Order: sequence, then structure tokens, then C-alpha cells
Amino acid sequence: MTDHIIIGGGVIGLTLAYSLACQNESVLVLERGTCGQETSRAAAGMLATDIELREELHALAARSRRLYPLLARRLERETGIDCGYREQPFLLKRNGREYVFPSVGQIDPRRLTTALMSALRKRGVSIEEQVDVTRICENEDTVRIESNEGEWTGRTVTVAAGRGSQALLATAGISIATYGVKGECLAVRLAGEPLPSILFDDSVYLVPKADGRILIGATELPYDETVGVRVAGVMSLLQAAEQLYPPIRDAVIEEVWSGIRPQTESGLPYLGVADSSRRIFLATGHHRHGILLAPVTAEILANTLRLIQKEEVR
Ligand SMILES: Cc1cc2nc3c(=O)[nH]c(=O)nc-3n(C[C@H](O)[C@H](O)[C@H](O)COP(=O)(O)OP(=O)(O)OC[C@H]3O[C@@H](n4cnc5c(N)ncnc54)[C@H](O)[C@@H]3O)c2cc1C
Repeated sequence: MTDHIIIGGGVIGLTLAYSLACQNESVLVLERGTCGQETSRAAAGMLATDIELREELHALAARSRRLYPLLARRLERETGIDCGYREQPFLLKRNGREYVFPSVGQIDPRRLTTALMSALRKRGVSIEEQVDVTRICENEDTVRIESNEGEWTGRTVTVAAGRGSQALLATAGISIATYGVKGECLAVRLAGEPLPSILFDDSVYLVPKADGRILIGATELPYDETVGVRVAGVMSLLQAAEQLYPPIRDAVIEEVWSGIRPQTESGLPYLGVADSSRRIFLATGHHRHGILLAPVTAEILANTLRLIQKEEVR
């Protein structure tokens, strides 16, 4: 039997699995598709703690930012994969004024999930992909997980299944209130000098990446969970991008994509043990900030899960 089962192999589930594995806990990750290929793949990777973030999350975001350079360095040491973590200036244009933040972090979310998977495998963590979890059953001392590929038993389960979390928890009689917010994004390449800072206004952001691409994002469509990128979405982003940074009109489009952000009715993520449960934990609903908040989410959950494990061993 595994001590800790994590459902969902996005940035939240994988970072938690890594934190637990670093503390020598036994962990199993169950993912219905391929790890890192859902919302986490869609993210721009900005780690902006002061912008767009609800005040209640400022302290958590600040802690997560402090953890990021350590996490990125550790992953690179263990896997050889550079997650694209870097600090750079951030220019915000709002109400006709410009605000410069001299140092804001960013990371490449796709490299981050690849590095996390690689580090987990090196540490012997089981990652089961193409496993669609269909039911969670809590018993006195264990939790049983049912799926299209059979059953697993653990001492705890953490649901980090993004937009799949609400339906999964309902199978255990646990109710949470979430909805999807579709976001569309594109990547372009522009010849010449790289953009020296992240540019941001209330309609669009431009994020220069280490590989030379510039990400332009992102639309925000609440309650829209459709797949695909709308022409109107791309047009509105490009128009706003050109206003913010006119040379962008000469860039070449390389990729367009969309993702569904997991949002909660309260606007705050669910972190910790579920109401009326001892063994079912939640790590979901991070909306626009899941990349930023992944390390602190992992820290909080891993500490709690480890304590429970210790108490039971005693
Ligand atoms: C366009 C866009 C730009 C963004 N930019 C940023 C940014 O700059 N900075 C930032 O901090 N955040 C950003 N975000 C938000 C960020 O991407 C999300 O908050 C984060 O990826 C959520 O991670 P997650 O692990 O909860 O979800 P996911 O990455 O969706 O992972 C959940 C996983 O659970 C799996 N799953 C679901 N149901 C089941 C089941 N029944 N059984 C097994 N597995 C299951 C899914 O297949 C999926 O792989 C952006 C989002 C979008 C869409």
C-alpha cells in the first residue's frame, strides 16, 4: 500500500509529489492523460506576486516566490533540465501610467513539469498515466481509489485534478464549488533584440521566454470549457499586443493554444483536508496562479500529510 496517492499530474500534483518524495514518503501519482499536458501546459509561467492577485494570497505568493529558485536549482541538479527560471524587469501600464517592478520571476511551465516527472522517476516514485480515476472511497484507516485501470489503496489521497477535482470529490460525498475559465494564448518570434522585460497592461501581457519566443496572453472566458482557440481571441490579443508594443506586428506566429483555468466560487484555492474527512486532501482551484503557487501549495500539503503519517506510525 502507498502512503500518499495524488490524483492529477499537473504542476500542483507533481510539485506535491516531489516535495513528499524529497521527504522519503511513499507516493503514487495517478493521471488520466499524460502528465503536464492540461492547464499547466497552457500557462505563461509568470511569477508575479503583486499583480492580479487577491490580497489574501499575497503572503502565500511571496513564500512561493522564495521557494522557486531553490526548486529550480534542485531540479536542474537532479535532472539536468533547466526549467527556465529567471528574474527580469516587469513593466505594467495602467491608467496612462507606467510602473516598473525591477525583478519579477518567471519559469517555463512545460520544462518545469518535464523536470518534475524526471526527478520523480529518478526517485522511484510511481507515476501511472492513462488512469482515469472514477471514485474515491474513504474507509477507517485507508482510502480506496477506483479507476478504469483497477484499484489502489493509500493512507491519504490528495485531489489535485484541476477541473476534474469537483466531479471526483463528489464521488466521496465532498462538495466544492468550482468552474472553468478558458484562456487563449499564442507564441511569436521576433527578429532583433530580445524584449528586455515582461510587458503587461489590463488587456494583454507579453512574456519573453529563454528560447527566444514571446508569449502573448491571455483571454479570460468564464464558464467556457470548450477546446480550441477562437479567431476573435487571437485577434483581440494581437491588437492589444500591438498597442502595448508596436514592433510585435513584424513577429511570426509559432503556436496558438488554450487552457481551462480551475477557478473557485470564493476566488481562493482549496488547500488542506476536506471537510468531514481525515484522509482526503484538496489542492485545487488555483485559477490564474497555479504555477506561482505550486511550491507553497506543495509545502503546506506535504507538511500536513507527513504529520498525519507520523501520528499514525506512533
Ligand atoms: C492561458 C493561461 C495562462 C496562464 N498563465 C499563468 C501564469 O503566467 N502564472 C501562473 O501562476 N499561472 C498561470 N496559469 C494558471 C495555471 O496554468 C493553473 O493554475 C495551473 O496549471 C493549475 O494546475 P493544476 O495542476 O491544478 O491543473 P492541471 O494542469 O489541469 O492538472 C490537473 C491534472 O489532473 C488530471 N485529472 C483530472 N481528472 C482526473 C481523473 N479523474 N483521474 C486522473 N487524473 C485526472 C488532468 O488530466 C490534469 O493533467 C495560466 C493558465 C492559462 C490557461
